[in-house]
Amino acid sequence: MKKKNGFLTNTVHSDRRMGTEYGAIHQPMHPSTEYGFSDARELAAVFQGKAGFSYARQGTPTTAALERQVTQMEQGSGSVSFASGMAALSATFLTLLKQGDHLISSQYIFGNTNSLFGTLRDLGVEITLVDATDVAQVQAAKQANTRMVFVETIANPGTQIADLQGIGNWCAEQGLVYLIDATLSTPYLCPGKRFQASLVVNSLSKHIGGHGNALGGMVTDTGLFNWEHYPNISEAYRTGNPAGWGLAQIKKKGLRDMGGTLSSDAAHRLAVGAETLPLRMERICSNALALARYLQQHPKVRKVMYPGLAEHPQHERATRYFGGRYGGLLSVVLAEDIDVFDFLNRLQVLILATHLGDNRSLVLPVAHTIYYEMGAEHRALMGIADTQLRISVGIEEEGDLIADFEQALASF
Ligand SMILES: *Cc1c(COP(=O)(O)O)cnc(C)c1O
Repeated sequence: MKKKNGFLTNTVHSDRRMGTEYGAIHQPMHPSTEYGFSDARELAAVFQGKAGFSYARQGTPTTAALERQVTQMEQGSGSVSFASGMAALSATFLTLLKQGDHLISSQYIFGNTNSLFGTLRDLGVEITLVDATDVAQVQAAKQANTRMVFVETIANPGTQIADLQGIGNWCAEQGLVYLIDATLSTPYLCPGKRFQASLVVNSLSKHIGGHGNALGGMVTDTGLFNWEHYPNISEAYRTGNPAGWGLAQIKKKGLRDMGGTLSSDAAHRLAVGAETLPLRMERICSNALALARYLQQHPKVRKVMYPGLAEHPQHERATRYFGGRYGGLLSVVLAEDIDVFDFLNRLQVLILATHLGDNRSLVLPVAHTIYYEMGAEHRALMGIADTQLRISVGIEEEGDLIADFEQALASF
């Protein structure tokens, strides 16, 4: 039997293999908002669940092609695309949780997700934040009304690595939905399915798109969760194979009703970006490790948080999960006597910008920007220092990145 093709081969050929006209290597970019039918029965059939397109708010052939591409990367059973990672996350929480339900979440999460939890609490969803690097803390938070557990694979910005495997095994035993935000690791470092995730969210705006030219988000069902016993699936979506019910509800309520739809234009750009994900990730991971090692030994640097360093509390776990690659995000705490703004203003290669997973290296002061809104007390709980920088490492030459830090640190 022929050997199975690798991640890159499958990714660069995925559009073409779905069938295109004239041997085109890309799926076309469909701008149509409505799709016409020559047979009224066919029109009705699509409204009643047959695969097809009716109105672009629920997807186009271009977004569907991107969905298949990411489903293949995640080795999942299906995906639904959204206009951004936050649209994907908010649609998933809002369509699967109800008033009176309980969600257990890692306390180490992206700031905007933390802010979204405020909205969920206002709507009557109970949320317990725990240190998910320890599965026992997740288990201890379980209540009779617990429906879902949420974690990030590599936490933004602290780089904590949750006990992804231990939590996955426990959720499977307990019949809980296990939702993973894999934005920082990407399916290239490890598909969420290997941790027994039920659903995986990826912000496509980050590594998967990679070029800083389009926003997008994706929810992928790994096919592992049995939705038949999940109480919040509406009667209307309890038809056909139960494996597909969760994603059907996310698509109908989250995309059709809430309308955070990805445009065909953005989907095309993200799909082109995604073709080189493995090459970019290899380069980004090796650059990040080199920069982390350089900064760690620098006398003007107090602390470097990067899972690739032996001193990182979950270094061994990260090595096991991600095969010796540790992602592109590092958090760096400068010596207390350095003015963080003066330091940043001296950098010449890195861009002072939010965002991560871009081809270009980006840096920002965490406490004054993405974590400003939550206040000093919550920042302390999350272990965010005032001189902390979040660095998203890009694909530049390693020596250029190190030299940029070297010259900026030299003046303090
Ligand atoms: C950026 C990010 C998101 C949100 O993605 P957008 O596409 O910017 O909306 C969600 N989770 C994590 C971990 C992120 O880094």
